[in-house]
Amino acid sequence: GFKMGIVGLPNVGKSTLFNALTKTAAAQAANFPFCTIEPNVGEVAVPDERLDKLAAIAQSKQIIPTRMTFVDIAGLVKGASKGEGLGNQFLANIREVDAIAHVLRCFEDGDVTHVEGRVDPVADAEVIETELMLADLESIEKRRAGLVRKLKGNDKEAVQQDRLLAAAQAELEEGRPARVVAVDAEDAKAWKNLQLLTTKPILYVCNVDEASAASGNAHSEKVREMAEAQGAASVVISAQIEEEISQLDADEAEMFLDEMGLKEAGLDRLIRAGHKLLKLETYFTVGPKEARAWTIRQGTSAPQAAGVIHGDFEKGFIRAETIAYDDFIACNGEQGAKEAGKMRAEGKGYIVKDGDVMHFLFNT
Ligand code: GDP
Repeated sequence: GFKMGIVGLPNVGKSTLFNALTKTAAAQAANFPFCTIEPNVGEVAVPDERLDKLAAIAQSKQIIPTRMTFVDIAGLVKGASKGEGLGNQFLANIREVDAIAHVLRCFEDGDVTHVEGRVDPVADAEVIETELMLADLESIEKRRAGLVRKLKGNDKEAVQQDRLLAAAQAELEEGRPARVVAVDAEDAKAWKNLQLLTTKPILYVCNVDEASAASGNAHSEKVREMAEAQGAASVVISAQIEEEISQLDADEAEMFLDEMGLKEAGLDRLIRAGHKLLKLETYFTVGPKEARAWTIRQGTSAPQAAGVIHGDFEKGFIRAETIAYDDFIACNGEQGAKEAGKMRAEGKGYIVKDGDVMHFLFNT
């Protein structure tokens, strides 16, 4: 699965947000087989109204959304890269995630201490980014020193690694994150394997006061501008509201959202933004037993997509019967789509599209 790490300075609302996420997940747990929740790891459903519509047409008994993992990574403070406090563990945890949800305090509240003594989310973002850049620089220096011997032997892999590390180092030394390095397609895999912290995509989560949940405020507006300039994503959310919503049942939650002038829960927007940031797409399997959503990366071939369900599906892949989501809906289901000639047989080279309804044929 795909993992988002929740980071941010102390007292910005990370735990509040994480609790809301996991409480919502816990409430849904009855509908989800295999929903595991550890103290700082939560699996949440990726909301997708297409799945409900497909299930309604096919009269599926069960609806199983696709999921995303959130990890609450506490303990970042100034000096983390120097191993202060929980620093080192924190950095190790970040290496393992696919993307970072960076929570920024955009609410004023005299009762909640700000570690820097003022509310300035853009400056806070820089504090964390600086720690991550310092940590990358330190690890790059160590790794390059470790490559020296192999470089003398002209080891091809070592030469590539060193070249990429040097490119990252040059940017970091100028105070820029490693993600600004332009990487060729043939270096993409080696680059990813370096697991540099400042190459992870970032979603800035503006935690605003309750009154600003629908509109955002001056602080979140500055974050939005910063995110845009960096090519990062941002969402506005009120962690406190989300925590309140997570304690309500579905009807109550809807009324509450209405009152607040919100179209949907902020968590849903957050999860979807994470999905988009990671360039993830969804395909569906639909039948009378269940309607289910599956996550793939953009550009995934049909056999690889089948492999998400089971490795044997990929190995024994013969072909896929495919109906585009819009066709499935317009033709009122599989039978109608078939009759209208909208069911396609696709082979190994087919690149699955977001929303495809798939049926895989395979050898066992
Ligand atoms: P963490 O240290 O980043 O995990 O922050 P917490 O989630 O523990 O929140 C720190 C404090 O800020 C707690 O007392 C929360 O109740 C409070 N808090 C979190 N979000 C909001 C918010 O949107 N508005 C206000 N006024 N307080 C909040």
